[in-house]
Amino acid sequence: MPANLIVDAHLDLSMNALEWNRDLTQSVFDIRAREAGRTDKPDRARGTVAFPELRRGKVALVVATQIARYVARDNPLPGWHSQEQAWAQTQGQLAWYREMETRGEMRQIVDLASLNAHLDAWTRDPDAHHPIGYILSLEGADSIVSLDHLERAYAYGLRALGPAHYGPGVHAFGTDSDGGLSASGRALVKRMEELGIILDATHLCDTSFWEAMDLYHGPVWASHNNVRALVPHNRQFDDDQLKLLIQRGAVIGAAFDAWMIVPNWKRGESTPEARGVTLDRIIDHIDHICQLAGNARHVGIGSDLDGAFGKEQCPSDIETIADLHRLRDRFAARGYSADDIEGMMFGNWIRFLNSAWSR
Ligand SMILES: [Zn+2]
Repeated sequence: MPANLIVDAHLDLSMNALEWNRDLTQSVFDIRAREAGRTDKPDRARGTVAFPELRRGKVALVVATQIARYVARDNPLPGWHSQEQAWAQTQGQLAWYREMETRGEMRQIVDLASLNAHLDAWTRDPDAHHPIGYILSLEGADSIVSLDHLERAYAYGLRALGPAHYGPGVHAFGTDSDGGLSASGRALVKRMEELGIILDATHLCDTSFWEAMDLYHGPVWASHNNVRALVPHNRQFDDDQLKLLIQRGAVIGAAFDAWMIVPNWKRGESTPEARGVTLDRIIDHIDHICQLAGNARHVGIGSDLDGAFGKEQCPSDIETIADLHRLRDRFAARGYSADDIEGMMFGNWIRFLNSAWSR
């Protein structure tokens, strides 16, 4: 019997633990109950991700983020007023991942040996109480104060990095902003290439995207990205960007945030039910990329569930992350083969890592 494991290439787990104050060792339903009545964030009591549900869904491997923004005086986005504060924030996030490792909830994956041992254990007995494997990633690199910080991060296991998030960053320009890589950003991606850190193209604005692709020759993925042709917004990739990513051997993770799935979503007003946001609408994006590629080898899941949104803004057929497996039937109904489905749920990310980490 196949193990039916799943990889999710983008979850902000430590952000949820430390900024949303969620104890992810508890079930999603216990966390919701404790948040009932709170209104400090729009997704309170609507979370979908915790370790029991990850385990129930057989999400054996995730890419888990550190995230902290620096904002200059004129930047209205929330963030830290110095890069050093942002670095310290990411070190707190790392400390939480380490505590989860100590508890046996998580296991850090840093190379092919640790990846293979982890997947062997899950495959041998998919129903046992295994740690969730995680690859540490940095979403937006403002916290990387110097190349020395990048090297320290590599030493503690950082294996993927997106140079920018929302707005203008120290090293590159992100979503809803425009500009190229700074001198520090160019040095950053070159050192990433030398260290073998995966470049996450997600959130790069178009100008920074094309510059980074020219400069960096290492492994590229897009951890959580949908398709501009279906939902026009600079956060999404256009077909030329998708074609280049395919050519570079990237895997592109489908994101589950409703505004990236259907056009004209109005935050706080639209509902997944009224707008028909279901897993099938995510498959529309995945299918678009498969048609560009001529195969199903460059797509996977990068759900971003609980990435500052909850059930109010994710597919209505997802109650918790344990429901990711429902994608299998939906893919089959669209005519995908069993091999293709296995690749999209799991194998494409694993093949990517095998290639990236054997260079
Ligand atoms: Zn993101």
